Amino acid sequence: MPESKDAHHISLYSRASNCFDKPHAGEDVLHQKAEHFQKLFHVSDEQLRDITDRFVGVLREGLEHEKQTVPMLPTFVFGWPTGKEKGDYLSLDLGGTNLRVCLVELKGNGKFEITQSKFRITSEQKHEDGQKLFDFCAQCVKDFVENHYGSCALHENLSLGFTFSYPIVQHAIDHGELIRWTKGFGNPNTEGHDCAAMLREALKRHEVPVVLSSIINDTTGTLIASNYVEPDTKIACIFGTGCNAAYMEHVSEIPKIAHLHLPQDEDMAINCEYGAFDSFEHKHLHDVRTKYDEYIDLHSNKPHEQAYEKMIAGLYLGEIFRLVLCDLVDDGVLFLGQETYKIEKPFSFDTAFLSLIETDPTDELLTVMGLFKYFFALETEYNERIFFRELSRAIGTRSARLSACGIAAIVKKMDYLDAGCTVGCDGSLYSKYPNFADRVHHSLEAILGPKGRNIKTRQAEDGSGAGSAVIAAMTKSRKEKGIYKNL
Ligand code: ADP
Ligand code: MG
Repeated sequence: MPESKDAHHISLYSRASNCFDKPHAGEDVLHQKAEHFQKLFHVSDEQLRDITDRFVGVLREGLEHEKQTVPMLPTFVFGWPTGKEKGDYLSLDLGGTNLRVCLVELKGNGKFEITQSKFRITSEQKHEDGQKLFDFCAQCVKDFVENHYGSCALHENLSLGFTFSYPIVQHAIDHGELIRWTKGFGNPNTEGHDCAAMLREALKRHEVPVVLSSIINDTTGTLIASNYVEPDTKIACIFGTGCNAAYMEHVSEIPKIAHLHLPQDEDMAINCEYGAFDSFEHKHLHDVRTKYDEYIDLHSNKPHEQAYEKMIAGLYLGEIFRLVLCDLVDDGVLFLGQETYKIEKPFSFDTAFLSLIETDPTDELLTVMGLFKYFFALETEYNERIFFRELSRAIGTRSARLSACGIAAIVKKMDYLDAGCTVGCDGSLYSKYPNFADRVHHSLEAILGPKGRNIKTRQAEDGSGAGSAVIAAMTKSRKEKGIYKNL
């Protein structure tokens, strides 16, 4: 057995030997494999710092020029909320996995109440004609409104904020042209179209009594919602199906919109769309990119796009894990003599399984045993289950460490390190993946030094729904004051 520097590691493996009268045939091999994958998915502190510095440069380029890989999209959301915004607003959130309709009651003291319905989006719906997808959205809003208000609300015309979590180009707050689909969507006749107009059209056709006031990205919504509740929040991140961040930039620092002649002392939220970091040329993450990342990338419906996201987001971590397992099946290391067709199915291994594997509370890893048995009809040995846990940790840790680079890059760009700030985080990876937040915090310290502790993360619950409502309220107020035709 090769020597391991990690005492915890050794004890796990010697325990594995004790569990069985005679050592299992694959034990040594699996131990070596575990070490191999720990190394493969390890990103050193030095690499984190290097990636972060490159990231800062990429953020600046996106602010300077149009059509950059990380597009740094102006959102036309000007400045922070006051916390006093009030009223009832509807919001529709088209995420990567679910569609949510919310009624948000802003209370005007940094507090809000939210009532929501969730609808699952099927894989067929991700590929049917775009207008059909928006028809489905309109129907969901209609059902929600009718359930909550009955038909008496049909003359009221509620204000609807649309949270659309894909990269859009905006010229105004109620206009958004889709640059490209991400997160596995590929609906035809949508890229290059104004998705606010497409939804407006569907709402009209379905006779839904609402007015579409704004189209925003979930990350921008999370930024504003989190700041509404906790004014120390200066950055928002999404760690869900995909990954992204938004922050508030000085208009004077966005040279690419100088031609709009906006007041230079204003601030505008920027939707970074930084899941696209390192796309196409793959030069910044080159040293940490594995053949599994490459495989996922090349077999996705958008090869070479969203390179950073594909290494860290919920849609992909389970798939990376599954690809490693398939490799080991091919090598004759795992599941010898068993039918493996179920686990050979692409994307059959949900990232939620990695969470389960990492948190199995039983000594014999019985949760892991059950998971493989019931979802994949596979029997597992104890030493294999230990290996799965090590592998989950390696993949989950890499995700969190790389995630910290994006946050650290914004902190550096905005000089937030000394004063510190809070990062509002949304998404199942952040809220449900064990240790994800701790791993991000450790990595922030590794990148930024001891002051990295000044950067805190905080759960931004229901950010996209509430944020959209706060932005609708801010927009209404600015329109009433007659500020900016671009609103
Ligand atoms: P959306 O991106 O649609 O807003 P979520 O934030 O819930 O939705 O993210 C969904 C992603 O999170 C999916 O890719 C799923 O695999 C992953 N996920 C769901 N539950 C867990 C969990 N318990 N642990 C880790 N990942 C999870
Ligand atoms: Mg979401």
